[in-house]
Amino acid sequence: MRKPIVAGNWKMNKTVEQAALLVADLLPGLEAVKTVERVLCPPSTSFMVISRLLAASDVGLGAQNLYWEESGAFTGELSVLMVKEFCKYVIIGHSERRSLFGEKDEHVNLKLKSALAHELLPILCVGESLEENENNQTKKVVSQQVKKALMGIERQEAEKIVIAYEPVWAIGTGKAANPEMANDIIGGVVRKNLAELFNEKIASNIRIVYGGSVNKKNAADYFSQPDIDGGLIGGASLKPEEFLGIVEAAA
Ligand code: PEP
Repeated sequence: MRKPIVAGNWKMNKTVEQAALLVADLLPGLEAVKTVERVLCPPSTSFMVISRLLAASDVGLGAQNLYWEESGAFTGELSVLMVKEFCKYVIIGHSERRSLFGEKDEHVNLKLKSALAHELLPILCVGESLEENENNQTKKVVSQQVKKALMGIERQEAEKIVIAYEPVWAIGTGKAANPEMANDIIGGVVRKNLAELFNEKIASNIRIVYGGSVNKKNAADYFSQPDIDGGLIGGASLKPEEFLGIVEAAA
């Protein structure tokens, strides 16, 4: 049985004070839903404050990115060790990192390996652009992203990874993917790739979530799909009622 996981990606939103208020609003509701792994990924400026607020709970803290080296001359970056000081999870290869900050599959692979080497739990994002989708390239693109990201990852490490299938055209647009189609990509492409790369057992143990305009109204349509194990939530994770509704739908 795969435990459902719902992670909130706050992106570049919330000052420290605002972040603390949002956690205070979310925490009682999140703590009530033990059957779902719940993760908050705020901006790194709030890590220290939020890690204290979450210390007595089983709600996990995640980063939105990391740099694969432990330290050095990498101005503006946050090293894997710095992330590890506060977080248990880290989002890797989000489409905004890929499209706005030039992150390539090779970087995603290095970040993934570094996260695993430092015992962080990676949430690896893959997904096709609108153009790729319209040109019927979804399967090819997603397959390539999965294979390149996971190149050289050992079998025993693979099961720690959560994969988020996030069609780029569905992120922040309100145009959520059709749940059956998302399930087909997750089961028929991502899980199939995992079976080829590792084995059937590992493929069936790895959690794969959907992300892209999920809200409390449509969440259950995704989470009732057999291959969808939860969600990576952007915009709706900043609204307590929405995010809690999504977490409850996953339970
Ligand atoms: C995301 O940022 O990963 C995401 C899925 O955003 P949204 O839920 O706003 O579409």
